Amino acid sequence: MKKEYDYLIVGAGLYGAVCAYELTKKGYRCLVIDKRKHVGGNIYTRNEHGINVHVYGAHIFHTSNEEIWNYINQFAEFNNFINSPIAIYKGNRYHLPFNMNTFVEIWPDISTPEQAKERIEKEKAEFHIEEPKNLEEQAINLVGKTIYERLIKGYTAKQWGRPCTELPPFIIKRLPVRFEFNNNYFNDIYQGIPIGGYTQIINRMLEKIDLKLNADFFANRQYFEQIASRIIYTGPIDQFFEYKYGPLEYRTVRFETETLDIPDYQGNAVINYTEYEVPFTRIIEHKHFEFGKQDKTVISKEYSSSWKLGDEPYYPVNNDKNNELYQKYKIEADKLSNVHFGGRLGQYKYYDMDKVILEALNYIKSL
Ligand code: UDP
Repeated sequence: MKKEYDYLIVGAGLYGAVCAYELTKKGYRCLVIDKRKHVGGNIYTRNEHGINVHVYGAHIFHTSNEEIWNYINQFAEFNNFINSPIAIYKGNRYHLPFNMNTFVEIWPDISTPEQAKERIEKEKAEFHIEEPKNLEEQAINLVGKTIYERLIKGYTAKQWGRPCTELPPFIIKRLPVRFEFNNNYFNDIYQGIPIGGYTQIINRMLEKIDLKLNADFFANRQYFEQIASRIIYTGPIDQFFEYKYGPLEYRTVRFETETLDIPDYQGNAVINYTEYEVPFTRIIEHKHFEFGKQDKTVISKEYSSSWKLGDEPYYPVNNDKNNELYQKYKIEADKLSNVHFGGRLGQYKYYDMDKVILEALNYIKSL
């Protein structure tokens, strides 16, 4: 018997929405469901006092892939926001990412790229790390011990809930190290924030598509499994298999968001608090993503903590133990010819938004 839908898409986040949009364009009948009461997954933004609040954490779109940039620009106009966070360590301010501005702030006696390189080499030489095996070694190899201790060690331990010696090196490789006076946090060619927020992007993608919110796949699994010929599942892969090999580890984030009756709280979208003793990792001031001039401001303090059942998973913890566990689930997943797993949670990968779109488009092309 022909099913009501060709595709059930579990999760109305970026991966699910791109798949739904592309499949509908190809003539497939899609149903998108999401357990939340809104679309967008973690890129959801909500307008408060004229300010688009990044409810599940700051999202700054950046990519070097022209095709992906053009793709996302179909759904919103982007501004020219450039992420240039500031770090505060013991009351002192430093520029991020690690660039000449940071180096002269850390070592006031230097002023040229040559001198900065020399100073980092000197600090590195004290450690002789050939092949970095963990984040601490990788960080020292990149920027030396002083910057590691002031700007990386505490922040990373707070974000991941374990010391840098127990974390994989690749996490820190996300950040540029530059011997120029350039505070752009990303190396990508294209960068910006959608004017009016991210939710409109997902709304536009899902405009002509059947959508059920407040619909938890697991609360009604039998019903949802028979409604469509195929499933695109963007939730946590371990949950799909009822945690049969044990739960994968995630980090979750708690936001303390407040509206203040002042036009500007911190003068920047992102300020990181890099010392371990300050309990939050960063403060986001949402209006600065869109250069807002409102009378009020909305700020969010971000607290990172370990995930337990019932919490929202944000970051996969891609260490060896979890990657091996993920492989077990992946083998199970590959056996299911009518279910495809996608996105940060479905593929247990620390994806950025551009990568999510690329993966979704590649998947659709492969059909
Ligand atoms: N990081 C750091 N100090 C900072 C900012 C970042 O040590 O002030 C490190 C930290 O290990 C973090 C990683 O860089 O986990 C990636 O940071 P990013 O800002 O890319 O993380 P996201 O925005 O995805 O949370």
